[in-house]
Amino acid sequence: MEKQTIDTIVGVLDKKMNRTLKLYMDTCARCAICKDACHQYVATGDMKYLPARRAELVREIYRKYFTKTGQFVPALYEARDPDENLLEELADATYACTGCRRCMYYCPFSIDTGWIVAASKAILIAAGRGNEMLGQLADAALFKGDNVEMFKDALMSGFTDVEAEVREITGNPDASIPVDKEGAEILYVALAGAHSYKSAAVIFSEAGADWTISLFEAANYGFFYGDTEKARLIAKRVVDEAVRLGVKEVVLPECGHAYRVMEMFYAAWSGEELPFKVRHILEVIDEYMKSGRIKVRAGAITERVTYHDPCQIGRNGGIFEEPRDIVKAIAADFVDMTPNRAEQWCCGGGGGIVAMEEYDKMRVASGDPKVAQLRATGATVLACPCENCRLQINELNKVHDLGLEIVQVMDLVADAMVMKGSAAS
Ligand code: SF4
Ligand code: SF4
Repeated sequence: MEKQTIDTIVGVLDKKMNRTLKLYMDTCARCAICKDACHQYVATGDMKYLPARRAELVREIYRKYFTKTGQFVPALYEARDPDENLLEELADATYACTGCRRCMYYCPFSIDTGWIVAASKAILIAAGRGNEMLGQLADAALFKGDNVEMFKDALMSGFTDVEAEVREITGNPDASIPVDKEGAEILYVALAGAHSYKSAAVIFSEAGADWTISLFEAANYGFFYGDTEKARLIAKRVVDEAVRLGVKEVVLPECGHAYRVMEMFYAAWSGEELPFKVRHILEVIDEYMKSGRIKVRAGAITERVTYHDPCQIGRNGGIFEEPRDIVKAIAADFVDMTPNRAEQWCCGGGGGIVAMEEYDKMRVASGDPKVAQLRATGATVLACPCENCRLQINELNKVHDLGLEIVQVMDLVADAMVMKGSAAS
């Protein structure tokens, strides 16, 4: 490998080398406890998917360039120059990782492989080995956001169609999907597609919320790709829109990573505090239900329902109880999966892996622990508030013939709501 490429890789690692990463580089007891926490390793038994092995590839470079022992006696201290083989293995292991951070939860030293994987992605991008598909999707999102006027007519026509449906569902002729409303309290940022804002619009309308919908999409492929500048720019359009409209709060849809990007990463990437509050739509709905702003029919769903904690909302986002409280208020027969909350199994569909077809076979296999969990509940309905999880579990549903109906939590709410204009209210 050319010296210039090695210098670039080492330079990137040096830039990423804060106290946390150094601690993760210096600390690993090789106890292999993390192997039983990673759905990919558990399902495939393939060493390359063992969390500590993914990190070890970065540690080998670290020891060679950041430790004296590795520099002078590399063979003894498992230090290594990056070469084509290392980069190839690193790219495979890195982009496969769903960033679920279950391994960190079980590691006795809380080593965050997800954090190390973020450094690996930066190295790979600098070495020209970033994942092509994720890179293209990030660039497409940047283009779409920079040319929003080009897509505005189609967006507005979608909003108008759904607005008519919302009026019919609520029985409220004034129900609307406001766009570009200055001074609104809430800016709701949806994913691409009406499914991501129809039920939200029904709920906002019935709650009498002062809201407006974003012209931008919540998904952030720059984050999955691992380019923090692209990720920042994709998120910045929403931040700028929120500031321009003067909203008090930005509400993210039923998507895991979009919530985490806005709530946890944007301020760190940009060095600016956000001048508004950030909440997940399920936190807002929970508040509306508990405060009586919206009413649902208790026990409206008689089938057995279970709930999947998406990694980015649950273990990594800390939202466990609000979605459960919502679902329990609607379902007569709610059963949690085992384990759940911070210990839940990743479904296998996070980190952008559903967009990379080279992982298709492994991705579906890696859903085995989730399939076993789902089966054990005996549930026929799965409430799942993340698009990537729904894509993956839908595939598992077909492959394993689970017979599940997989729904967004907000769809359950909208279906069970007692509309203010209805006779039952
Ligand atoms: S559980 Fe932690 S300490 Fe043990 S091998 Fe995995 S990363 Fe290393
Ligand atoms: S973050 Fe998840 S997918 Fe990645 S190594 Fe850890 S357990 Fe495996």
